[in-house]
Amino acid sequence: MDLTTLLIHGGQDPDEPYGDLSLPLHPTSTFAQADPARPGRFDYARSGNPTRQAVESHIAALEGGARGLAFASGMAAITSVLLLFSPGDHILAGRDLYGGAYRALTTVFARWGLETTFVDTTDPGALAAAVTPRTRAIYVESPSNPLLTVTDLGAVAALAKAQGLLVIVDNTFLTPVLQRPLAHGCDIVLHSATKFLGGHSDLVAGLAVTADAALGQKLYAVQNTCGAVLGPQDCWLLARGMRTLAVRLAAEQETARELATWLAGRPEVARVHYPGLPGHPGHAIQARQADGPGAVLSFELQSAKAAEAFMRTVRLPKVAVSLGGVESILSYPAAMSHAAVPPAERAKRGITDALLRLSVGLESAADLKDDLGRAVGAAAEAEAG
Ligand code: PLP
Repeated sequence: MDLTTLLIHGGQDPDEPYGDLSLPLHPTSTFAQADPARPGRFDYARSGNPTRQAVESHIAALEGGARGLAFASGMAAITSVLLLFSPGDHILAGRDLYGGAYRALTTVFARWGLETTFVDTTDPGALAAAVTPRTRAIYVESPSNPLLTVTDLGAVAALAKAQGLLVIVDNTFLTPVLQRPLAHGCDIVLHSATKFLGGHSDLVAGLAVTADAALGQKLYAVQNTCGAVLGPQDCWLLARGMRTLAVRLAAEQETARELATWLAGRPEVARVHYPGLPGHPGHAIQARQADGPGAVLSFELQSAKAAEAFMRTVRLPKVAVSLGGVESILSYPAAMSHAAVPPAERAKRGITDALLRLSVGLESAADLKDDLGRAVGAAAEAEAG
């Protein structure tokens, strides 16, 4: 089945007795057992719930994996995957990474004894040179947050296979509609389903998919032991959002392309980061490994003062943390998504105080352009004054 069809018809239980078109909601914590000696398919809702199970098998099918698991947030999915490792293990992680993942690795997991080296994963030589005898995994975002760098997933998977390492990919920005990392040989896909998968800025959720059933079982053991599961109501809401993902993302991506090109032509904008632009260093790899550049871009104005004036002036994109909603969302990484990255580290990574990240929603491109045009004008005035 084409992914667009699978989004609509996947995740349905063939044994469901009433033929509901909407996913049945099971708001229960436990399940009566007809025969206590032989527990039924579900026994306790931390261990499994039919509504959650539907979302879990749906995302597994969409990503082409063996096992899907739904968590209470993207960070719960990420930290549960990190719990697959042991104190003394070493992880290679992308230098440009969501600030919350950076914080988890450098605080909680560092204290616990999991060591991380941050590497430019777009440079295969640098990645190969950073592998140590204790390295167990490579953790990548592609495109990355917030600088939209593109990593060659097939090349990373080949390097990892040769060294016996796992490859973990955060696929939040593209979703399986545009990129399927397991097909490139990666082992685990992660999502903040809070973003495009949910799509309506009305829930917090995380998903993980493993390529391999045995690894899926290990991750399930962490999920069941630590308990960061997604509740049935939020599973239902997520399943509803996912059904329209393909059409939402296609429309949002089209507008993002138009806005990126337009912003790149404005003299007040110092730089635009968007893999859909031909000048982007990862453009060719993105075109090869994904079905599109997505609907998130970032851009740099001339200064922090200009960025502040821009944020004060825009009306349509909501200035907020998060991305992937039906409404455009403008974020200020230095103070929002990447506030947990110390200023000196941010500077080293190229996350300046003049950088803004835009997640393009479903508003008309013309209205967005008008609004951004006024904000760019206000930014230039602030800069001049
Ligand atoms: N991964 C990426 C790329 C993100 O942007 C975020 C949140 O912004 C997360 C993971 C964390 O997800 P959540 O906020 O759902 O915990």
